[in-house]
Formats: sequence, C-alpha cells, structure tokens
Amino acid sequence: MHHLPEPFIRIISQLIDGEINDFVSALSTKAPSSIRLNPFKPQLINNDLEKVIWTEHGYYQEIRPKYTLDPLLHAGVYYVQEASSMYLGHLLKSLVLPKDSLILDLCAAPGGKSTDILSNVPLDSFLVANEVINSRSQILKENLTKFGRCNNVVTNSDPSSFTALGAIFDLIVVDAPCSGEGMFRKDPKAIGEWSEANVHLCYQRQQRILSDIWPCLKPGGILVYSSCTYNSQEDEENIKWLLHEYSSTMVPMPHEAKWGLFDTGYGLKFFPHRVKGEGFFISCVQKSGELTSEGFNIKKSKFERLSKEDSKTKNWVKNETDFDWVKFNNVIKVLPKNRETIVSFLATYLKIVKAGVDICEIKGKDYIPCQDLAMFTETEHSAFKTIELSEENALQYLRKEGFSIDAESGIILLTYKGLGLGFVKKIGSRFNNYYPQEWRIRMK
Ligand code: SAM
Repeated sequence: MHHLPEPFIRIISQLIDGEINDFVSALSTKAPSSIRLNPFKPQLINNDLEKVIWTEHGYYQEIRPKYTLDPLLHAGVYYVQEASSMYLGHLLKSLVLPKDSLILDLCAAPGGKSTDILSNVPLDSFLVANEVINSRSQILKENLTKFGRCNNVVTNSDPSSFTALGAIFDLIVVDAPCSGEGMFRKDPKAIGEWSEANVHLCYQRQQRILSDIWPCLKPGGILVYSSCTYNSQEDEENIKWLLHEYSSTMVPMPHEAKWGLFDTGYGLKFFPHRVKGEGFFISCVQKSGELTSEGFNIKKSKFERLSKEDSKTKNWVKNETDFDWVKFNNVIKVLPKNRETIVSFLATYLKIVKAGVDICEIKGKDYIPCQDLAMFTETEHSAFKTIELSEENALQYLRKEGFSIDAESGIILLTYKGLGLGFVKKIGSRFNNYYPQEWRIRMK
C-alpha cells in the first residue's frame, strides 16, 4: 500500500482515537467484493452467499469473479457495488415518501445509488438521475437501461441549471464528488492525489452544489448527503453549515449497534475496521415546512402522439395501458402513466440523455426494436421470435462477434437464462447485431 499522508492520519486520529491502528491495518487487507441484486429481475444467483447486513439485496462474493464475463451482469440481474454504500437503500425504506414522489439523484454516474434508489422507493416514484460530466452520463444511461425500469430520466446538467426548476423534488440525493479517503484501500492511487488543499477545494465545491440544489427541494422534503470520505470538513462541517444556513433539521437514520456504524451526531460513518465495506459517510436532513404537491406548467409537450400504425407496437409491452406512449425524433417510448408533463417540463431546463424506455425506432416502414426494450422488465417476450443462447454464444453476442443462429430471416430477441440481452436481424445466413457498439465487451 502507498504511504498514508501524515496530515490524514492526524485528522483521522482525532475522529477515532484509540482505533487508529486497527483502521490502518484494515487498509492493508483486501477490499470485500459485493453485488446488489435487481429486485425487478429474476434472482438468478447462488443464494448461499453471505448477505450484506443492512440490505436485503446485497451479497458478498468471497472470490471476486470477472463480472464483465458474466452475461447476467449485462442483463441487469445485479449491480457490482461496494457494500457500505448500500446503506442508502435501508435509509430510504425507513422514510415515508409521499405518493408519486419526484426524486433527484444529482451526482449519479455510474448509477450505483440510482439503481439502489429505484429498488427501495415506492413504484409510483419518478427519478431524475443527473450527471454533469457528459461521458459519465452515458455510463449512467447504460446502467439504468440495464436495470430495466421506465420510471426515470437521465440528465446531463450542471447543478446550477436545476435552480430554475423551483421546489419540485420530494427527495434529493447528493452523493458528492469528494477527496475519496474511503477509497484508499480499493484505489491506492487516491492516496497519491490526497492533499489538505484538495480537501478544501472539495469542501467548497460541495457547498456550492448544496446551495445550488437546496431551492429545488420542496418544503418538508428530504435531502440525503453522502460521500466516500472520512474528512470532517467535507462531511460534518458541510451538514452543520447546511443546518445553519437553511431552515432544516436532522432526520434520524436507523441502524443497529452490532452493525458497527459510527454516529458522529451529523451522520453515520463507515470505517473498514468496523464494517465489511469501504469508507462512507451518509447524512439525512429535512427542509422545514409542509409538503405540497403542484402541477407543472408547460406550454406544449415535447412529444408527439403515436399514429394508428405506430400503435401496433403496443403489444410488445405487457399491460400497455399502464404507460404514457409518446414519440420523439422517430423513437417510440414509454413513460409511466401521467409522467409526460414532468418530462416535458424538465426538458425545458435540462439536457435529457434518456427518458423512460425506448421501444423502437421508426425507419421508413420498419419498426426497429431498441436495446431498452430487450432490457425492460415489462417487455412481452412472446411478441417476438426469441432464441435462448448458451453462455458462450451470449458472450459472443455481447462482444459483437459472429456465431451461427439457426432461424428464419427477421427480427429476433436473444435471451440468456430467459432474460433479454438484445436484438438481431437475421438476413439469410448472417445477422445484424443491434447491441450498442459502446456497450460491447472488450475483455477477452
Ligand atoms: N452516485 C454515484 C454512484 O453511486 O454510482 C457516484 C457518484 S461520484 C461519488 C460523484 C459524481 O459527481 C461523479 O460522477 C462526478 O462526475 C460528479 N461531479 C463532479 N463534479 C461535480 C459538480 N461540480 N457538480 C455535480 N457533480 C459533480
């Protein structure tokens, strides 16, 4: 392991006096590997794995497998996530969120928290998953597409662009960019990048993010702030500042003494010598005032209606009347019922990367199924010719390599263990592979 900076040891000793030797030794042990199951897809994993204590969806894997080479990862059956962060799901389950809640995950890529949020809030909630860095917003889109639900949009906007939306969110999660002290074990290069000056820059950036987004929280709404650092300036000092600056109160966070979490009075800290996970901090604050619900004023929907011909694609989805069916740039998509207006409203202020689930693209007379449809939990597989793939063929498909498919010409939905992986178009003896080029497995 890299040498730990002396000021870092000094600051952390003030926090966990008497435990510092245990903490430092834990940093030279192997980081545990863990996954979180997608509750909306079949639970196709070995169920004698050790459970992550604070979530019903999390499991440890003693020997870290090559996840990339498992087609189930690409089918969205699970997400690889460090265990401490999974506490968010436990916290969300304890909150009483209003019906039809609107939720924002402000710093969302690659999507660990977003998929955990969608796994633990009521089904009628709607999530805006935002990532300011464009390339990272594409990875967020990929991970949310694989998750397979339609109650979300992915945006690529700066926190300051949200202010104009007004107080519309019932819950905001800010998983802030930070100095990364909690990642020292998993990612030793973070040690080399650490400095007191950088901690201070992170602290200032976090305050800027919080002050940009605070006006978007409804009165009575909840803000969850988290980081993967132990640094009190970035964690407790920011929460103290928030409570002082804005009218708000701390929300108690449920946990059991045997879990080993460290309650600092302003949030919970996860230390690797106390828990089986990486360093993490989480805090929960409620804005003063009464929750209200309001409509969204839009001049005109951003979407078009489906033609009679387009509507034939509705039988590709189970319970088609549960959704708003809309069209944008020749792509037919579904949003949850009555969410078209909010998406149009968001699109007035934010850069939308993905909205709901894309069903198909209209090209001339052809309706070409989209990748989203293969991943969507509500797709009617029986509407398509399907072919179940072996593990070897599934990996060839995901690498976009050639292999043989025994079927007549036409569109085929390829499945692995019954889960949609993607579409191909069979033409004579060959096929066009519609799997997105940027998602292709490159690992041999
Ligand atoms: N929530 C993610 C998850 O669970 O998978 C991890 C988020 S990571 C800790 C912080 C994110 O904030 C990064 O994706 C980073 O690109 C983004 N970020 C960096 N600077 C930012 C800024 N000034 N405002 C908002 N987000 C920022």
